[in-house]
This record gives sequence, C-alpha cells and structure tokens, in this order.
Amino acid sequence: MKVCMENITVFDPVEEAKFAVENGFDGFELAIEYPSSTPVHIIARKKELVDVLSSGNLVRLAHVPTFVDISNFYDELREASVSVTLKAMDAAYAIEAEVVVVHPGFRFPLTPREVSFKNTVQSLSKLLGVAEEYGFTLGVENLPPGVLPGADYFSRVEEFKELVSQLDSKKLMFTLDIAHASIKPSDPPLSFIEELYGRIIHVHVSDNLGSRDDHLPLGVGRIDYKTPLETLRRKGYSGTVTLEVFTPEKDYLVASKRKIS
Ligand SMILES: [Zn+2]
Repeated sequence: MKVCMENITVFDPVEEAKFAVENGFDGFELAIEYPSSTPVHIIARKKELVDVLSSGNLVRLAHVPTFVDISNFYDELREASVSVTLKAMDAAYAIEAEVVVVHPGFRFPLTPREVSFKNTVQSLSKLLGVAEEYGFTLGVENLPPGVLPGADYFSRVEEFKELVSQLDSKKLMFTLDIAHASIKPSDPPLSFIEELYGRIIHVHVSDNLGSRDDHLPLGVGRIDYKTPLETLRRKGYSGTVTLEVFTPEKDYLVASKRKIS
C-alpha cells in the first residue's frame, strides 16, 4: 500500500507537501479547502506544488471541499456547491491529481432520503462528466453517521450499490474511510470491503473514540484499523491510504505512518 499524507488547510500547502516528501510518504492528498488551500491559492502555487511533489515522486490525490453540500434541497445552494466543487476540480487537475475524493452531501433532518439521494446523483453526474474530461477518477467517500443530528447518510453499503446502479461510469469509484465506518450505526469497514472491494480506489484512516470523527493519531483512539487494512492487503489492495491525522504536532503523524508502513 502507498501511504499518503493530507495537508491541514490552515497551513501553507507547499510546506505541507515538503513535509510529505521529507518524511518518506508515498503520496499526497491535497485538501482543497478554506483558508489556505482554496482553488485560487492552489492554482497560484501550482508550479511550486508540482515541483515539490515530483521531487519525491509522490502519487497525487485531491480532496474537494468538505463544507459544501451537493445534495442540498435548495437548488441555489446545491448548484453553488457543485460550482465550488468544480473550481476545486480545476485545481486538482492543475496539480495532475489521479483521484479526487468527494463527499456525497449531507442529509438534513426532515429531508426524505430519496430527495437527498436524487440530488446527490444529479450533482455527481455533473462532476463525473468533468472527471471524464479531465481523466481522473472520483472516489465518493462514506460519511460518519451523526454529522447532522439523527441523519446518517452514505454510511451504508447499500447506498453505494444504488449509486453505482444509477451512475454508470468507470470513473465512479469509492473512497473507504475506515474511521467513519467505525462510528455506529455505520456499516462496519469489513462490510464495505466485502461488498464493494472492486470499486475501492482509495482509503482514508485515522483513529477516534467511536462516537465522532476525531481524526486522532493511530492507536490513540479505540477503533480497529488493523483488521480492515490487513483484509485489504490480503485481497491484493496495493493502492493509496491517506492518514487523515490532523494534529499540528507532526511527530504523531509520522508515528501513525510507521504503524501501517
Ligand atoms: Zn473526506
């Protein structure tokens, strides 16, 4: 497996990429997000970023903005979210990312699941058109339950199966977030691996205490990250795994890398 680092978006993205190279990561997942890694910042720093990542021969991935909602029930907000995501995809293309991680949107309380789902499908279809043009793969990520009170969304295997049945594109793949899938009542990581293995293009891992998405260093929380990673290895997965360990004290990130390298 190729172990990747993700930038913390309050820091300078070029400095983050340098850290990844200097510390022997195999890849870099560029989170394109406010405040320091917006599409405008990334496009302005494109050459520096590409030069640094090339110097370490790092695999390049991108994560489009988390804090938008491509399934929103208001047409205007949903369209604005798609438009922000498309700008981030331009930035992902500028750094020659191979895989772009995208969230399916949020299901707000009172919104029927079918309405949210229909909106997600419609928005993803637009994003897939651009991904096909740019030649990269979209990795739709499973979300932690409870982001919004009482509403879990895209934390079940069935939702991904339904998505694939409605959007027939080879560029539509899946990012398994082991930490998200370890928060109940999500389907557990092993169910995702068992049922969707052929569609897994990328993996995220971090630790948590079991009730929310803490992004802790590996071993600090309570989740079993080892069994899912071993299962993936046994099945022949040799792709990318990003450590989403968000701590300004980066020795914890390096220690997490040692645990899975
Ligand atoms: Zn994500």
